[in-house]
Amino acid sequence: GSSTGMRCAKTLQLTLAVIKPDAVAHPLILEALHQKIVENFIIIRKKDLAWRRVDSERFYAEHAGRFFYQRLVEFMSSGPMRAYIIAREDAITHWRGMMGPTKVFRARYASSDSLRGQYGLTDTRNTTHGSDSIESARREIAFFFPEFLADEWMKREEPGFRLG
Ligand code: UDP
Repeated sequence: GSSTGMRCAKTLQLTLAVIKPDAVAHPLILEALHQKIVENFIIIRKKDLAWRRVDSERFYAEHAGRFFYQRLVEFMSSGPMRAYIIAREDAITHWRGMMGPTKVFRARYASSDSLRGQYGLTDTRNTTHGSDSIESARREIAFFFPEFLADEWMKREEPGFRLG
């Protein structure tokens, strides 16, 4: 095409989205969350998995010692989850915005159309996880998808994408 105008290739960002065990346990909620992801993102990878307790402890090591840590670790290794690598512009903040606040009370009353506001059960059983920064997206994608070589993948297949 013409080379006169500005290039407006969008820079897409990758992030990790996880549907937690409470939501995977309910087929209708799982389907509703999946549809929301399909409508809002390009799905790059998707997998169903379950954690052992040690995976849970390792992933949430930064929360060790917090009052909710044991409960969180047990919950996250209590049943199957579904994880996605998803892409769009500003994927990290977009998915965090769709999820809503961490705590169910705030999610219900301050952000009632958010996913956690609609489907969250408790502060722990709050349906979804999303990376909160570029660094955590990188770390967490590698944690859930160790076989996914983000840098190589972006270089080889999708030069317009970046992890950031
Ligand atoms: N969590 C909890 N009680 C709390 C705060 C957090 O059980 O008071 C759980 C909850 O499942 C949350 C996870 O710990 O999603 C990680 O907490 P974080 O503060 O990182 O919140 P998030 O980034 O998931 O919104």
